[in-house]
Amino acid sequence: MLLSRLFIRPEGNTRRIELRIATVCVALMLASFTAAPYAGAQPAAPPEYDLLLKGGHVIDAKNNIDALMDVAIRDGKIAKVARIIPAHRAIKTVNVTGMYVVPGLVDIHVHVYAGTGEKNSYAGDLSVYPDGFTFRSGVTTVVDAGSSGWRSFPDFKSRVIDISKTRVLAMLNIVGAGMRPNGIEQNTADMDGQKTGEMALKYPGVIVGIKSAHFTGPEWKPYEQAEIAGKMANIPVMIDFGARRIERPIYKLFEDYLRPGDIYTHALSGERGEQDNITGGVGRGLREARAKGIYFDVGHGQASFAWSVVIPLLMDGFPPDSISTDLHVDSMNAGMKDMLNIGDKFLAIGWPLKDVVAAMTWHPAHEVKQDQLGNLSEGAIADVAVISMEHGHFGFGDSYNSRVESDKKMVCELTIKDGKFVYDLNAMSGNPWNQAPTLADKQANRWTTLKTQGFGESHWKPRPGQPLQHDWRPYTLPADRLQTMQPGTANSVDPQWMSPEERAKSAEIDKKNAAKAAARTKALAASAHATGKP
Ligand SMILES: [Zn+2]
Repeated sequence: MLLSRLFIRPEGNTRRIELRIATVCVALMLASFTAAPYAGAQPAAPPEYDLLLKGGHVIDAKNNIDALMDVAIRDGKIAKVARIIPAHRAIKTVNVTGMYVVPGLVDIHVHVYAGTGEKNSYAGDLSVYPDGFTFRSGVTTVVDAGSSGWRSFPDFKSRVIDISKTRVLAMLNIVGAGMRPNGIEQNTADMDGQKTGEMALKYPGVIVGIKSAHFTGPEWKPYEQAEIAGKMANIPVMIDFGARRIERPIYKLFEDYLRPGDIYTHALSGERGEQDNITGGVGRGLREARAKGIYFDVGHGQASFAWSVVIPLLMDGFPPDSISTDLHVDSMNAGMKDMLNIGDKFLAIGWPLKDVVAAMTWHPAHEVKQDQLGNLSEGAIADVAVISMEHGHFGFGDSYNSRVESDKKMVCELTIKDGKFVYDLNAMSGNPWNQAPTLADKQANRWTTLKTQGFGESHWKPRPGQPLQHDWRPYTLPADRLQTMQPGTANSVDPQWMSPEERAKSAEIDKKNAAKAAARTKALAASAHATGKP
């Protein structure tokens, strides 16, 4: 009775996440209970999977999966996705009931050429190191969008790509010296398609595109040269169309320069003709470009996401193909926060979760021709994000400090890269602190990066023959205070804490909240549309 009252899902401002602590405590109390049905079910053969995510709701756009599925991983690859995979078949099983299991997010527009010390430069102090920003929001792969050019790529590679835990890919800037201040970016003499293409050919699978950005001149040269490089290396060109110039209208870019498969980023900025300035709807040439096979990418950044553009364009039937951040020091604390926050914005205006996930995973992976990423096919690279949906009252800003409200927000619970945990917000992959190590802990190097050694192992130990001056051994919990857990059972931090009645009530609340949000969004969109008219 007490439990069920405790665990009714809160409405309004109370956040569900606060209940988690209580849930964990109860889960600890119930640990012996939940383990009981498995007693004696220990497998004879060694487990065939390294890691099993059990009970989650899988969204995998490539394979058109939007259903409850278990996901098994072995040797850094997705081994099996099926309705039920028994826990005892994996070394480690984590119960992710009530959460979404999606491919690791792929952010195809970031700036991560940090560390050169150059001020006011995307090849320097405006960039960030990727590992500080990626895993905590479910991102496992980023594509640096043109911070380096063919002259500087080797430095970028050794300085950042080779030492990052995040999978870092790159688009080469068509400017040989890269994305740097003081007119360097505008130097048409340093835009050499041939040289850029040659460098791209040296690093297939790492250099995955060519970028042109921030060009303010009237010429078409950056786009011409970018296409030369893109064709040579058979990789897409991504365009940030720079300053709006009457000499080079956007529809001409699509008609005369870009190939099918090229990517137009900052697609929702509305600043270069993406939005019709009379109707507020889609600008000239964009629908034809989409029909030709050109992709439209968000590239939120500091100035490329305005609600007054996004809502009318979506209402006019022109959603983006991919969501990306344009992460750099000036965007990340402003309207742009991170990938999931941008995803939340699309949820807030009525995009289904399935479409939002596709735009953060399979679509961007496919746009940069990395089809081994962004999906959960058997054999695909095991990059996975586990996301929970927080319910409450939230606001989402654009680049101009205006707000849309919503009742839900995605939270990254777990991130897995190459088959191992790299981020675990609520320590779901961990054991209760007073539990004796299990078989899974002894093989932790097969499924996690979060436990590299046992407690005390990193500390000083006497060398052979050295006198023992003090007792160096770490404290160990007395045996009578240890909990035990059967091998092959799911993690005891069980999020499946609602009774069927509570589940039904919660679904009802979800439905009401969704209707409220939809009504708010409709009113908002209608007023945005009305004021957009002359
Ligand atoms: Zn950018």
